[in-house]
Amino acid sequence: MSSPGHSTPSPAARVGMLLVISGPSGVGKTTITRAIEKQIPGAVFSVSATTRPRTDIDREGVDYFFISDERFDDMIRAGEFLEYAGVFGKRYGTPKRWVEDQLAAGKLVILEIDVQGAINVHKQRPDAMMLFILPPSEDELLSRLRNRKREDETVIQRRFGEARREMEIARTCGAYDVFLVNRDLPAAVVHAVALVRAEWDRRGASFS
Ligand code: 5GP
Repeated sequence: MSSPGHSTPSPAARVGMLLVISGPSGVGKTTITRAIEKQIPGAVFSVSATTRPRTDIDREGVDYFFISDERFDDMIRAGEFLEYAGVFGKRYGTPKRWVEDQLAAGKLVILEIDVQGAINVHKQRPDAMMLFILPPSEDELLSRLRNRKREDETVIQRRFGEARREMEIARTCGAYDVFLVNRDLPAAVVHAVALVRAEWDRRGASFS
């Protein structure tokens, strides 16, 4: 209970907010996502479960929970996902219980998920803030995918094709509120943090 004369709600009483960030691979969305998580007090990153193999740079329980196909099926059957989708032949899902607990605790919960999953979340939670990161051009995206030197040319071409399809769906599906073009990564980070902070503050201020 707040004492007389204090009209500011206690931090624990504020309403949580769901933030969905999507964008094609190579667009810089992970850097942007992690910057939002670090720079905005109350922001937390939702760690997804995936059936894709762990790479050297992945941290178990930090970037993903790496699970088997059987375990993924069990989680679907038990209703443990808020959403799940197939991406590049592997499956990815957002743990429902954790997200709900964080929202109930008044957190800004960040989901970095693909377009199919994002559309699904938007249907269930129309109040989620939906952000899509775009490259300056398709040519630029292709050269960024090549410069990462993570995959061979066949995989790069597949990811590029997938990216074009994903951008087209994002543009036409009506689920996204904001499209942010990443021309320069540090500037895009500043811009994204400012946009999300403004929305987070606006929703906090309207709560009493
Ligand atoms: P990567 O394997 O490169 O980390 O991720 C591949 C794609 O899967 C990215 O577009 C990423 O945003 C998406 N993704 C990661 N976690 C989830 C999730 O829980 N649900 C959905 N629908 N997509 C996800």
